[in-house]
Amino acid sequence: MTAVRIDGNALAAKVRHRIAGEVEALRMRGVTPGLAVVLVGDDPASQVYVRNKVAACAKAGIHSVMHKLPGDTSEAELLHIIASLNGDDTIHGILVQFPVPAHIAQERVIAAIAPRKDVDGLHAESAGALMLGTPGFVSCTPAGCMEMLRDIGWIGHGVDLRGKHAVVVGRSNLVGKPMAMLLLHANATVTICHSGTRDLPGHCRTADILVAAVGRARFITADMVKPGAVVLDVGINRLPESEGGKLVGDVDYDDVLPMAGYITPVPGGVGPMTITMLLDNTVRAARASLAGSSAPKP
Ligand code: NDP
Repeated sequence: MTAVRIDGNALAAKVRHRIAGEVEALRMRGVTPGLAVVLVGDDPASQVYVRNKVAACAKAGIHSVMHKLPGDTSEAELLHIIASLNGDDTIHGILVQFPVPAHIAQERVIAAIAPRKDVDGLHAESAGALMLGTPGFVSCTPAGCMEMLRDIGWIGHGVDLRGKHAVVVGRSNLVGKPMAMLLLHANATVTICHSGTRDLPGHCRTADILVAAVGRARFITADMVKPGAVVLDVGINRLPESEGGKLVGDVDYDDVLPMAGYITPVPGGVGPMTITMLLDNTVRAARASLAGSSAPKP
């Protein structure tokens, strides 16, 4: 058996086409969705992510503003910029690219973003809404993974994950926890694994859906995968130059390919869907602003 490769670029193109139509419809009603991207410092990976996000906005007709701040920007200065973006009616979404330099407290930055503009889904209000199953912004990467499950027909059109076991490896606020919550809302039985988990391979082998969000190159190998499982690889890891310097996921793709039913490649898998869901969240924020609502509808 060879797994079906889930093409994140192709799915992203399809979803972005739909989003571009929604942007056009909003423009006809006098609102151009706007996203502010804030980058502090000159981390090379962050610069690439931010550039890609801004370029994706332009292609979808979303207005974007980039705030590129020096690495020695103080927390107070950053909070001041966020406050002014909160009050800017042309901006519907605010994304601060993390990590920020160590002298800035990430949690205070997240808390400063108005929940109605929290398109990264990191604010406590967004996380709480996800936990309760009420409308709110969902972190883009897990939302993109759910789109992938929808695309392969595992959810949507009356189908859900009841009876399926989902294992999420990683428990970050950005990926692991919201991913687990979305899978739970889709009626999967969910296990979250982390660095304190005993017998991680044993847990993974019971997964019908295995999501790897660990940040360790090629961590998931074939012996950790149930035959026919859906394997969603969130990881983005750059190999050292001595090993070719290329980008790889948390899944050993070539090893797992013959074992899984579906698998996402890196690059070209979850990554393009993450940016796509950022666009989607920005459009939802713009639509909610038009409706005078603080909570974006799904
Ligand atoms: P974090 O570092 O915040 O979290 C990693 C998680 O993996 C932690 O919960 C940690 O456990 C767990 N972990 C680490 N080592 C092990 C181990 N040996 N066994 C079991 N669990 C382990 O990372 P993120 O969630 O932010 O990101 C994960 C990966 O996804 C990274 O490679 C990142 O670059 C990538 N990423 C990709 C995106 C995309 O668009 N494709 C978007 C966001 C992230 P513990 O909590 O116990 O420390």
